[in-house]
Amino acid sequence: MAEQENSAADNTPERLDFIRQIVTDDNKSGKWKNRVHTRFPPEPNGYLHIGHAKSICLNFGIAAEFGGKCNLRFDDTNPSKEEQEYVDSIINDVHWIGWDWENRLFFASDYFEQMYQWAVELVKKGAAYVCDLNGDQVREHRGTLTQPGKESPYRGRSIAENLDLLARMRKGEFPDGSKTLRAKADMASPNVNMRDPIMYRIMRATHHRTGDDWCIYPTYDWSHGLEDSIEGITHSICTLEFENHRPLYDWFLDQLGIYHPQQIEFARLNLTYTVMSKRKLLQLVKDNYVNGWDDPRMPTISGMRRRGFSPAGIRNFCKVIGINKFNSTVDFALLEHCIREDLNKTAPRVMAVLNPLKIVITNYPDGQVEWLDAVNNPEDAAAGTRKVPFSKVLYIEQEDFMETPPSKFFRLAPGREVRLRYAYFIKCEKAIKDAAGNIAELHCTYDPATRGGDAPDGRKVKATLHWVADSNALDAEVRLYDHLFTKENPEDTAEDEHFTANLNPGSLRVLTGCKVEPHVKDTKVFDRWQFERMGYFCTDADSKPGKLVFNRTLTLKDTWAKIQKKV
Ligand code: ATP
Ligand code: MG
Repeated sequence: MAEQENSAADNTPERLDFIRQIVTDDNKSGKWKNRVHTRFPPEPNGYLHIGHAKSICLNFGIAAEFGGKCNLRFDDTNPSKEEQEYVDSIINDVHWIGWDWENRLFFASDYFEQMYQWAVELVKKGAAYVCDLNGDQVREHRGTLTQPGKESPYRGRSIAENLDLLARMRKGEFPDGSKTLRAKADMASPNVNMRDPIMYRIMRATHHRTGDDWCIYPTYDWSHGLEDSIEGITHSICTLEFENHRPLYDWFLDQLGIYHPQQIEFARLNLTYTVMSKRKLLQLVKDNYVNGWDDPRMPTISGMRRRGFSPAGIRNFCKVIGINKFNSTVDFALLEHCIREDLNKTAPRVMAVLNPLKIVITNYPDGQVEWLDAVNNPEDAAAGTRKVPFSKVLYIEQEDFMETPPSKFFRLAPGREVRLRYAYFIKCEKAIKDAAGNIAELHCTYDPATRGGDAPDGRKVKATLHWVADSNALDAEVRLYDHLFTKENPEDTAEDEHFTANLNPGSLRVLTGCKVEPHVKDTKVFDRWQFERMGYFCTDADSKPGKLVFNRTLTLKDTWAKIQKKV
């Protein structure tokens, strides 16, 4: 992979979205003394998806544009679902998208002791208490949007008793789930999040970093603002569902009187034909609906990388969709359009035949091989040219020949002449059938005078076909992908159905016996190609010497451009 594609430095905004406007205004007023410090705070409980890319490009992008900093921080406060494998994949994916956090890689678990000391401080202030209600009881006491909450019978415990119980919770004297530490906030608040939220729960789970040091773990609401505060974050950017948690974010920091970042919410990315929750993606992986987190049909960053999507294309997509405050669903075709735009500029062209039909050029000398010039990328003169072999036996796509062509079919047919790209005009003399009556091969003649160009007598052909010569051809498996789900909204199910009912049974089609020109023989995993007329492809990790495997990234047909034309 070329070095420069991993630089996101070109990420200058074309217009200011509302968050960049806030940052601009803050810089003008001197609110943060012209500091801009953001963070991307994934929980390591799954692989990153394209929604995370939106958040990554926003946080790292703002830091880059305003001369600030962005931390990568693992919000690893819930050991029951977190794993080192996820940490490693997230680090790899954020780098791959093109961002760098220098030495600012942080883990919330490194702040556990500090968080605990702050909890003790709140208890000492009378702003937190140990509660013996169980989960169901806490929920019941919390009330609803229309019903006020009821105070816990343990709310009145003395500070001394609370300090003692909290210390013993930490020491492991109580069973899991038997006690919690709760904020003494406001049970009458119209905002249910303010009704004495839980700060710590007892949970004996081995943490991927702190091991068994702790048996109490902080909740998101309690810990997140503290993490931001410790790191001196200025703008704590999160998705809209945290908007009504903001009063609590502010309340904890105000109670402690510590450095207080500003939480700002934006709308999360949703895409048609896919799901974007880690819980659901995990289920697809665990239940073997897909072949792992990096299955090219997955909306994960690792899946998209394996599929052949490029970091620059993904970054451009994040720029095009912009940032706003309203939840909406983006057409998957727009993502494809952004990827195509980048691949069109960068992917070298080669010829491959996916469904080969054998052709024998009857008037071409036996055993002769000519190496013809072919253009590597018409969009990029610097990409140069390469040689492709031409020989007596070659292959074209089955779909490029019809024995009895309808009036609009201009490709090869008996008695008809077409151009083979970079090579010659050929004319179909005869279709040879097998015992079952299927076309087995074509006998054609070529016109030596048309080599690499037009016919000297000015006669025209109506089609140019791609082809691969049998001489030096590489055998390949090609995997074709379609949407993972058949419905734009996979959640659109009958009442007794699960979203997996909408999985697309035709989302993966495997072709074998495909032919590829020899130029790609030393291809490396993740190399991206355009197979002329067939689409963009990416070399898969399953490739072995002698048997290459390619994933079709996308076809060449831009459905987004069509959608745009209709409006
Ligand atoms: P999911 O709902 O997919 O499990 P999450 O929000 O629980 O995601 P986190 O690891 O907590 O996952 O996310 C890290 C950051 O990425 C958060 O700031 C979160 O707001 C943001 N993020 C997650 N999903 C999206 C999305 N679809 N669009 C934009 N940002 C997202
Ligand atoms: Mg989360």
